[in-house]
Amino acid sequence: MGSYIDIKQEVLDTALWLSTHHYFGGELGSGGNVSARIPDRDLFVITPTAVPYDEITTDEICLMDFDLTQIEGGLKPSIEAGMHATIYTKRPDIRAVAHTHQLHASIFSVLNMPIPPLFDEITLAIGDRVDVVPYAISGSDALAKNVGETVANGCRCFIMQNHGALNLGSDLREAMGNAELLEKIARVYHSALATGRPITTLPQSALTFWEEVRQTL
Ligand SMILES: [Zn+2]
Repeated sequence: MGSYIDIKQEVLDTALWLSTHHYFGGELGSGGNVSARIPDRDLFVITPTAVPYDEITTDEICLMDFDLTQIEGGLKPSIEAGMHATIYTKRPDIRAVAHTHQLHASIFSVLNMPIPPLFDEITLAIGDRVDVVPYAISGSDALAKNVGETVANGCRCFIMQNHGALNLGSDLREAMGNAELLEKIARVYHSALATGRPITTLPQSALTFWEEVRQTL
């Protein structure tokens, strides 16, 4: 029996919820991965690579250090483990990461187009924009580097060019909730753009206000 069982179970539960709700590219998809930081340690747990999440147990969730040495877990870790480690290194405020291939965010990943601030509650939760991480091959050091540079903007959701999305949180529930908020804003923005009519975004005064509120949370 491995250690950190509770947090491994939470990671597995989050991956199952995201999979069931089509965030991994389809009802049967495992195109995505989930991780969580171990408090006060330079360690994190992450889902294994290339297995359906309804076929694994907590014993197969991988425990890694930030140098990507696997400490526990009966399967190989996600090929994107380096990207997750980079986020935990660059963003001390982040304790959970959900990488998804969610549908509407994927539209903007092929348009290579950021999403502007459109709603108060989403700006409060994820920041004033959804930037695009430049493309690099899945699992590569180049992709981890691009992710590290883009997540430095302090926001909590990101589009990955020609790939998918990243949703960060203070815990797994927040990362999962941010995936939902990103899907909503991407769906609304896509539908609004399709009308060809002008789109209004939040004014700078609102962005300043919500940023001040975020600092108090
Ligand atoms: Zn992916």
